[in-house]
Amino acid sequence: MTATTQPPVPFTREDYGARMASVTEEARRAGLDGIIVTPGPDLVWLTGYSPTAITERLTMLVLRPQQRPTLLVPALERPDAEGAEGAASLEVRDWADGSDPYQVARDLLNREGRFGVSDSAWAMHLLGLQHVLPRTSYRAITQALPMMRAIKDENELARLALAGTAADATYREIIQLRFEGRRETEVAADLARLLREFGHEQVDFTVVGSGPNGANPHHEADLRVIQHGDAVVLDFGGLMHGYGSDTTRTVCVGEPSEEVRKVHDIVRQAQQAAFEAVRPGVACQEIDRVARAVIEEAGYGQQFIHRTGHGIGVTTHEPPYMVEGEEQPLQPGMCFSIEPGIYLAGRFGVRIEDIVTVTESGGERLNNTDHGLAIVR
Ligand code: ZN
Ligand code: ZN
Ligand code: ZN
Repeated sequence: MTATTQPPVPFTREDYGARMASVTEEARRAGLDGIIVTPGPDLVWLTGYSPTAITERLTMLVLRPQQRPTLLVPALERPDAEGAEGAASLEVRDWADGSDPYQVARDLLNREGRFGVSDSAWAMHLLGLQHVLPRTSYRAITQALPMMRAIKDENELARLALAGTAADATYREIIQLRFEGRRETEVAADLARLLREFGHEQVDFTVVGSGPNGANPHHEADLRVIQHGDAVVLDFGGLMHGYGSDTTRTVCVGEPSEEVRKVHDIVRQAQQAAFEAVRPGVACQEIDRVARAVIEEAGYGQQFIHRTGHGIGVTTHEPPYMVEGEEQPLQPGMCFSIEPGIYLAGRFGVRIEDIVTVTESGGERLNNTDHGLAIVR
C-alpha cells in the first residue's frame, strides 16, 4: 500500500476575499442585487466556514455590491464563525435565541430587489425573508451563476488531483480482494475503508452493482451475494482535503462472457472518444454527444440512460453538466467526470468514469487506472 503525497497548501484569507469579490461582481453582472448563501458547499468555498451542525437556526452570508460581505450567525455559533479563515474578509453579525433572525436579516438586504439564494437554503428561511421583505424576489444560485465554482485555481486542482490519486489507489487495492461469495455491502465497506486509508476525510458513495444490480446506475450496495461470472460496477468517491473524487470501473468475477466483453469495450471507446474531445471552447453538450454517438453507433443508445458527466469540486456533483442543452464552453481549470455507461435491465451494467480537467490544449485525466476489464476473484 503506498501512501499518498503531502497535504496541500492551506487556502488563505486573501483566497476567500477574492472569491467573495468575484462572486459579488458576477452577481452584479447577472442583474442581481446580491447573493444569499446558507450553509453548504457555496459557503465553504466562499468563506471556509462550515457550521458543525446545519440546523433550523438561520446562518447566512450576504454579498452585495459596494458593501462589506456580512455573515449572519446564531449568537452561540459566533466564535466558530469568527474562527473560519475567510472571516477576516467579512463582518460577522449575530442574532440571539428569542429574537427574530429575519428582522435582523432584513437590515442586510434591500427593501426590494432580486437576490440569488443557495439551492439548498431551507424553505423556512426563504419564506421568512419573503415575509419581512415582500418586494424581494429570489433565484437559485446555480440558475443565476451556474459557473460560479466551475473554474478551479492551482490549489484546487492540486487537491482534486490528490483525491483522484487516492481513489486510484483504492481501486488498485480492491481488485486484489475477493468478490465471489461476498455481499455487495462487504465490498462497499472495503471501498470506504480504503478511501479513508488513502486520505479521504469523507466517503460520499460506494456503489457495488453486481450482476443485475449493475443495470441500475444509482444502485448503491445491498445484500446480494456476488456470483461467479458477474460484471460488477464499482463507483466510489468522497472528499479529501475538502475536494472530491469520483471514479468508476467495471470488473468481472472470473472469465467474462462474450457480451460483457463487447459491452465493456464499447463503453471504453465512448469514454476515450469523449476524453479526446475535451479542449477549451468546446460546448459541454458536445462531450455528451461524442460519447453518445459511439454507444448509439454500436446499437446501445437506448441503454445509455444518463448524462455523460458532472462537475466536481467542493462537492462530488455540481455544474457544469455534460448534457444535451448545456452550451457553456469548456474553459481551462474546469473539472468534471466523463462516465458513459450501458445498462441491460435485469442482467448487468457497465460504466467507466474518470475525472478530467481542461488544460490550455486539451484534457488531462485525474484518474489513471487501467480501463481494461479487470478479472477479479
Ligand atoms: Zn449520480
Ligand atoms: Zn461516480
Ligand atoms: Zn460521477
